[in-house]
Amino acid sequence: MAGDFRALVVTKDEAGYRCEDKRITDADLMDGEVTVRVSHSTVNFKDGLAITGKSPVVRKFPLIPGIDFAGVVETSTDARYKPGDAVILTGWGVGETHSGGYAEKARVKADWLVPLPKGLTAARAMAVGTAGFTAMQSVMALEAHGMTPADGPVLVTGASGGVGSVAVSILARLGWHVIASTGRTSEAEYLTHLGAKEIIDRAELSAPGRPLGKERWAAGIDSVGSLTLANVLSMTRENGAIAACGLAQGMDLPTTVAPFILRGVALLGVNSVTAPYAKRVAIWNRITSDLDMTLLDGLSHTIGFDEIMPTARAILEGKVRGRTIVAIG
Ligand code: NDP
Repeated sequence: MAGDFRALVVTKDEAGYRCEDKRITDADLMDGEVTVRVSHSTVNFKDGLAITGKSPVVRKFPLIPGIDFAGVVETSTDARYKPGDAVILTGWGVGETHSGGYAEKARVKADWLVPLPKGLTAARAMAVGTAGFTAMQSVMALEAHGMTPADGPVLVTGASGGVGSVAVSILARLGWHVIASTGRTSEAEYLTHLGAKEIIDRAELSAPGRPLGKERWAAGIDSVGSLTLANVLSMTRENGAIAACGLAQGMDLPTTVAPFILRGVALLGVNSVTAPYAKRVAIWNRITSDLDMTLLDGLSHTIGFDEIMPTARAILEGKVRGRTIVAIG
């Protein structure tokens, strides 16, 4: 059909939940002021959940998954954007309640877009994606709490994953002594290359522990949740802070108040999805200035449209290292 283009479409009906590779037209896109010709997307943990249906992150059907994309404006009825502008989108429920990045075109609200920062290509923006954006947001949450490298080591959990890899890279460049927790100790060389000074086996943190343990780090970025986060808190130094952004182990948090009331530890929540525009621009500017682009290239790899679905399954099995760029166009 003239004007049709490629898209992944998630459907849920009597036949069940499924994600299919289809040809669609502009009429199949959802409402929005800006239509973007998508050049790149990425595969985050949440995209894995959306494509497989393992968790109910998709809440409108049919829907194009893909929580992030980068591309060039094709048409816009909003004065802030004109055809040819390079833009990025992360979050805002795109790929969950509004069609997202796994298509050659996307139509979204102008409010959700951010201009592609100077110094960043569309591919590198997607190497960062929601995961890298969240890593920087977490770093900035620790800084806003007053934490500095002089306070002591910082722990990063899920270190070989997307959030973790970018967090390790940024923190090391900012001068932190980074302790990386990973289940893939075979990735020690990779994590050391990104800047980690110590590697610990995540098994040390993933089983039930004591309300308070030996003080091991001043700060942390946790993308794992559950027992891991409880243990991370219990081993945080007095007046330290942990930024919690993920749930790779689980959504529960079986902790006690001991770290908070006996050590003054702060638990800082990080939600990238609805971060307001000014904060987004500030985060992207920090990414451009504080993330080593050579390291970013080294921790990311590029796949084509055909590999989105297998990669989505692999990320849920903890088999994807670093970040994945999807070349869409
Ligand atoms: P990845 O799958 O790339 O990374 C997660 C990492 O967690 C894995 O690589 C693995 O690291 C570790 N892990 C996986 N399973 C377990 C387990 N059962 N127990 C302990 N560790 C485990 O995902 P992302 O980096 O994209 O996302 C990480 C988390 O952050 C997800 O839960 C995601 O939903 C959340 N997130 C939240 C955001 C927010 O706005 N708050 C935004 C982005 C992500 P290793 O092999 O090194 O141990």
